Amino acid sequence: MNTKANPNEQLRCAVPLMLQWFAENQRDLPWRRDRIPYHVWLSEIMLQQTRVEAVKPYYARFLAALPDIKALSECEHDTLMKLWEGLGYYSRARNLQKAAQQVMTKHGGEFPHTYEEIRALAGIGDYTAGAVSSICFDLPEPAVDGNVLRVYTRLLCDARCTDEPAVRRDIRETLRKIYAETPEGTRGTLTQALMELGATVCVPNGAPHCQCCPVRDLCEARRCDTVSQYPVRKEKKSRRTEEYTVYILQCGEKIAVQKRPDSGLLAGLWELPHLDGRRKAQQAIDDIAAWRTGAAELISLRSCTHIFTHIEWHMTAVHLLVTKMPERFTWVTPEQLASETALPTAFRICLPDIITDPN
Ligand code: SF4
Repeated sequence: MNTKANPNEQLRCAVPLMLQWFAENQRDLPWRRDRIPYHVWLSEIMLQQTRVEAVKPYYARFLAALPDIKALSECEHDTLMKLWEGLGYYSRARNLQKAAQQVMTKHGGEFPHTYEEIRALAGIGDYTAGAVSSICFDLPEPAVDGNVLRVYTRLLCDARCTDEPAVRRDIRETLRKIYAETPEGTRGTLTQALMELGATVCVPNGAPHCQCCPVRDLCEARRCDTVSQYPVRKEKKSRRTEEYTVYILQCGEKIAVQKRPDSGLLAGLWELPHLDGRRKAQQAIDDIAAWRTGAAELISLRSCTHIFTHIEWHMTAVHLLVTKMPERFTWVTPEQLASETALPTAFRICLPDIITDPN
């Protein structure tokens, strides 16, 4: 291991400092007000790839609609997708429901209490299993995410590549030993303290706020003035670009939507009709003759871009007034679009204001 410090000793000394700092500085977040497994689990899943401020309204709305695991397990697919609409990474919601159904059938409706049983639920990996195990059940199981890796590698000047599964496993094992030595009743707080430190002090973007860091006197990277070198990551692959012409087909007040396939990107959600490639106005009209939507009048044409993790969609959004409503599409009102139809952000950004905000 390429580290200049004794990791166990450094970490052992850091634990009480982080616990005290967390007690005095933690943010008041809705999912920290209790340690109910359903709440902690839901928040951890929502917070993956999503900012805290963006998650707050979703978390409140989700719990208002589905207050317990039983309600989640029985929820209609379209209702679930609507509750998740705009959060992205929709497989998270599908897995949440699958896991809720597992809790109902395999665990009699009670959230399991052991790391192995929690880890076996759908959509729960090492990180989430560690978070729920430690926060809800005080188990000595760390939750190692990007925030924790940043603090860890800087604290110890650990120059191994954190994208390597074996390195992450080793860091997790090292932390597990530290957790096992941490007094009972404080393991969940340690998990939260590590996450909080990485999110608010040893921040992911820009310079860390070392002057207010509780472990600044222990931090090897700060001592060596090499903070920006950690964590070591693999070079990111560039995103693939895909081009589409997306149609907003409006007949009276209704617009055409269709269901996406049950597998692949945005599986099972609604979408606007679209064709591969980008078209100019007349070509866009000519190329949908087979859809039999009747005469088309062009209202607007504009460019939109949506970025997924690995793909960029470059779209030409074509708003057409049409005269027929063929059955190949589902025709929905603006009100249905707002309240019932889960249309992912990639398509929602193509809609003109007149449809998203008819008033
Ligand atoms: Fe991060 Fe600075 Fe704290 Fe080190 S001292 S853990 S670099 S915030």
